Amino acid sequence: MIPFNAPPVVGTELGFMQTAMGSGKLCGDGSFTHRCQQWMESQFGSARVLLTPSCTASLEMAAILLDIQPGDEVIMPSYTFVSTANAFVLRGATIVFVDIRPDTMNIDETLIEAAITPQTRAIVPVHYAGVACEMDHIMALAKKYDLMVVEDAAQGVMSTYKGRALGTIGHIGCYSFHETKNYTAGGEGGATLINHPALIDRAEIIREKGTNRSQFFRGQVDKYTWRDIGSSYLMADLQAAYLWGQLAAAQLINQRRLSLWHRYRDALTYGEEEGRLALPRIPADCVQNAHMFYLKLRDLDDRSAFINHMKDADILTVFHYIPLHDCPAGQRFGRFHGQDTYTSAESARLVRLPLFYNMTDAQQTRVIDAVKRYLA
Ligand SMILES: *Cc1c(COP(=O)(O)O)cnc(C)c1O
Repeated sequence: MIPFNAPPVVGTELGFMQTAMGSGKLCGDGSFTHRCQQWMESQFGSARVLLTPSCTASLEMAAILLDIQPGDEVIMPSYTFVSTANAFVLRGATIVFVDIRPDTMNIDETLIEAAITPQTRAIVPVHYAGVACEMDHIMALAKKYDLMVVEDAAQGVMSTYKGRALGTIGHIGCYSFHETKNYTAGGEGGATLINHPALIDRAEIIREKGTNRSQFFRGQVDKYTWRDIGSSYLMADLQAAYLWGQLAAAQLINQRRLSLWHRYRDALTYGEEEGRLALPRIPADCVQNAHMFYLKLRDLDDRSAFINHMKDADILTVFHYIPLHDCPAGQRFGRFHGQDTYTSAESARLVRLPLFYNMTDAQQTRVIDAVKRYLA
């Protein structure tokens, strides 16, 4: 059986975890946490990177940090993971969903302005498949209407837009280190990128249960006290040690994923030329991280038949994201602004092929051959 995903393993993780275990400190903000955070700050160019338990936690931190209140509106695509919306709903916000572009499956930037109301507080672009949203357009709108931008860059670690790392362009960015993403912190993990320096102090307080313990550890205050609302948004250092093994090999992981991605595309381009399916598009301004390789088949029936065909060949392929506006909670906490021209129709056609760091060439050959048999 070829799985859809396997957690990436480089081989150095266990050694780093043993070092962490010998250090006498396994809780958050240990030496591996600092190493990972500093590496990301210098590699990606964010003012402050904070490791968290998950991208879900990072999005929740962002919503608290922006003081999202009941009655506020937050604009995002409906084609995304539930946490993108839930983080803001937890603060009482109403979600305003906007349609996606069929080429990248990202929010259609040209439809955002019409969805802005006096209640709008934030825009949350989701960089689907690690391919950037049109950030120049989105940041210009944020400036014009005085809105905050939180990038859901869960899938975008090591991707860029016009040379800038995803997650560093908005006021806040959120990464995921879940085992299904390109880099993992031993199964679960995330990071909050604070790109707007004025938000750094409060971000550290929110992450430390509402206390200024981070300042205390740096010797900036002689005791720490309860300052604000907050929660425990720290990653255990044992997990950061696993993550360090992956970040230290980030180029290796990225290159392997890209080579798998390009091999899929080269092998299946004929299907697109014959009008049988559609393949992912990477706009000229975007450098991607091969987070995902997907096909878009004719419709839901075609996709179901494809998934069954692949399963018969012992290959797992998956789809995801039932559009949020169609879900019971989406109807309760949100509304769709404008027409759903592409969100529902395109999401019903899309299927993801297996793509993971430790996938072998032989496994990929089997997947490609099975896809070709389906198309024939
Ligand atoms: C995976 C993912 C998340 C959630 O990440 P966790 O680390 O599992 O909390 C959020 N948004 C998007 C777009 C994702 O792909």
